[in-house]
Amino acid sequence: MKFETARLIQLQALDTEIHQSGASAAALHSEKRCKIIEAMPPEMVTRYERLKSRYQRPVVRLIGGVCEGCRVRMAASTAYRLRTNGSLVTCDHCGRFLYFDGD
Ligand SMILES: [Zn+2]
Repeated sequence: MKFETARLIQLQALDTEIHQSGASAAALHSEKRCKIIEAMPPEMVTRYERLKSRYQRPVVRLIGGVCEGCRVRMAASTAYRLRTNGSLVTCDHCGRFLYFDGD
């Protein structure tokens, strides 16, 4: 898995935690969140934030060639790219970040 993908997953996990534990936790986690974001490409963060306003989980797995978020099957070439070099791709249908997590 690529470094950036790992960061995205980490960020999403942190946001879920913040979401579940409310405002006091948000303050507590903000420093941690800044550190994660700093290490990511800005355009990726922008895209993540935009997706987050729409979906609860902007980063999902590709399972059996299907996007976990919208259940639409990806093109074989997209699935192949994801599987072989672990690069980050976005779903053609819903725009969520997709990652491959074993099979
Ligand atoms: Zn999708």
